[in-house]
Amino acid sequence: MDFDVLFIGSGQAAWNGAIPMSKAGLRVGVIEEGRFGGVCTNRGCNAKITLDRPVELMRQVEQLQGRGFDQLPTLNWHDLMAHKHEVIDGLAYGNEMKLAGAGVTNIIGHATFVDAHTLRVNDKDYTADKIVIATGRVPHRLDIPGKELLHDSTDFLVLEDMPKRLTIIGAGYVAWNLQPSPMLSALMSPSSCAAVGHYVISTPHTWIPSLPICVIVG
Ligand SMILES: Cc1cc2nc3c(=O)[nH]c(=O)nc-3n(C[C@H](O)[C@H](O)[C@H](O)COP(=O)(O)OP(=O)(O)OC[C@H]3O[C@@H](n4cnc5c(N)ncnc54)[C@H](O)[C@@H]3O)c2cc1C
Repeated sequence: MDFDVLFIGSGQAAWNGAIPMSKAGLRVGVIEEGRFGGVCTNRGCNAKITLDRPVELMRQVEQLQGRGFDQLPTLNWHDLMAHKHEVIDGLAYGNEMKLAGAGVTNIIGHATFVDAHTLRVNDKDYTADKIVIATGRVPHRLDIPGKELLHDSTDFLVLEDMPKRLTIIGAGYVAWNLQPSPMLSALMSPSSCAAVGHYVISTPHTWIPSLPICVIVG
């Protein structure tokens, strides 16, 4: 066997296992067809947190008006987006190097199964005692009229211009993450956000002041 453990995907699910396994002496490989680090690093948690941070600071300054601050900062979406690219764009390489530094073999390409212990990437076969499928999720594309006009969270997190109005379809984890975020509450009018879904997960972000008041349609 080429490897003891071979991971398909390099996101949280993979590197949190691959690195300690490799450090413990196992022969570990990670196969990635996109950006190393997966969704959280490149187009999920980190991007959202980077965009949210200046807005959180602005909210704090708002609360300190007349208590040491006498002017409100203004938010510039374009600068904020440029800052997000500065922070996020290098993380994939950092993740790739972190894996390599821990002794993991990084393989770039799309993995397909040949048999229970063999994966094929770019016409080359790799064998492993254990294969871990850590391929994450992709956005569910709705088959509805006008679907070509819809954006997913990845599109949203690279928008050059902040939309004035927004409807979030679905009220699961990703909606939960975007809907109460400070950046949306700061940049959009309170009535411009609607989350449409059957249920809404309660959120630890609800302490943040000035949340958009979202209409939840069950
Ligand atoms: C907008 C947004 C905000 C979020 N915020 C948070 C947050 O604040 N906190 C939090 O805990 N979670 C958050 N999440 C969720 C978090 O991003 C996911 O839970 C996490 O990324 C899942 O990790 P994973 O390793 O399972 O999959 P992924 O990160 O999706 O990684 C899977 C990887 O597998 C690769 N891959 C797939 N198929 C193949 C193949 N055949 N061959 C080779 N490679 C393949 C993909 O390219 C991808 O890089 C957020 C998600 C989104 C979308």
